[in-house]
Amino acid sequence: MNGKGLKNRRALFVALALVVLGGAAAVSCYLGMVPQAKAQESTTTSSMILMDTVVDVRVDGPRSASLVERVFARMEELERVFSRFIEESEVSEINRRAGEWVEVSPLTLELVELGIEMGRITEGAFDITIGAVLDLWGFGSDFHRVPTEEELADALATVDYTRVEVDGERGAVRIPQGTVLDLGGIAKGFIIHQATAILREAQVDRSMVNAGGDISVVGRRPDGRPWRVGVQDPEDPRSIRYVLPLDDQSVVTSGDYQRYFVVDGVRYHHIIDPFTGYPARGLRSVTIVGDNPAVCDAISTAVFVLGWERGRALVESLPGVEAIIISETGAWISPGLAQAMLTQ
Ligand code: AMP
Ligand code: MG
Repeated sequence: MNGKGLKNRRALFVALALVVLGGAAAVSCYLGMVPQAKAQESTTTSSMILMDTVVDVRVDGPRSASLVERVFARMEELERVFSRFIEESEVSEINRRAGEWVEVSPLTLELVELGIEMGRITEGAFDITIGAVLDLWGFGSDFHRVPTEEELADALATVDYTRVEVDGERGAVRIPQGTVLDLGGIAKGFIIHQATAILREAQVDRSMVNAGGDISVVGRRPDGRPWRVGVQDPEDPRSIRYVLPLDDQSVVTSGDYQRYFVVDGVRYHHIIDPFTGYPARGLRSVTIVGDNPAVCDAISTAVFVLGWERGRALVESLPGVEAIIISETGAWISPGLAQAMLTQ
């Protein structure tokens, strides 16, 4: 949800690197929406740049072309509501009017509530009020730099998801003055969830929404087997390290190679530890598989922050959530996923 930071070239690269295997949508066009890009029988695939990445949608079933169009329109619309880098967005308004109640649409309310809930479940490793710290590091702009300890301490004082207030009756949100709401760790998952909900409701035969490797599918492949999705190797993001089966599920990955800058040989990436203000150290990537892509999105970011031991404990505590955690020295695959990978 970063308006400027990521170059399209990189997004294309990621999309190409994260190959969806086994008869899934090919990236048919990078520069705009081509609803009829590859329409044969009742399958439509199309691609568009949204949320700073290439989004591929494949739909199988009657009216697939118009459904693909609807799904892209919806995702575009939601990005304009949730991105803090789009001035007219609701999140920008919440930030501009910090300290006041701001009336928002029901979906923004739902997303903020989910963000708060994810903060609670992850004991603050996931924190939607991390915006001021991200701004110091320059994530969200093209001017990256390493902040001073003092600057970080000041920004960290504004980070506390428990201070985000939601008034369900009025449909309003209030954040403390000085706090900057950033939904970048959850909005993409939430948006692909909304897209997939449209397709489920339309009772498509099957579908796949792939936003730069964060993927939500409906159903199974035409041959009745689970979809197969490649997980990038953080050491060499052009290659695939694991192949996962995806059976009417979602998969989301957080990695230190996705958005970063290097100063004096040190890599500073975009996943911030809300307890220190620095990029979280220890892991290279976290892939989460589950039913709800918004939850997977928040959990992948949180596990990255929590690290090997506590991250693993969090995954184990969440029913229906599977993971691959990759560190410098090894990888952990949750037992349920390991089993599914063996039998795919
Ligand atoms: P992801 O790529 O899903 O792991 O999300 C990374 C994005 O989430 C960043 O670009 C920020 O917008 C935001 N973010 C970074 N650190 C955190 C954090 N600890 N909690 C919540 N959001 C974060
Ligand atoms: Mg995330």
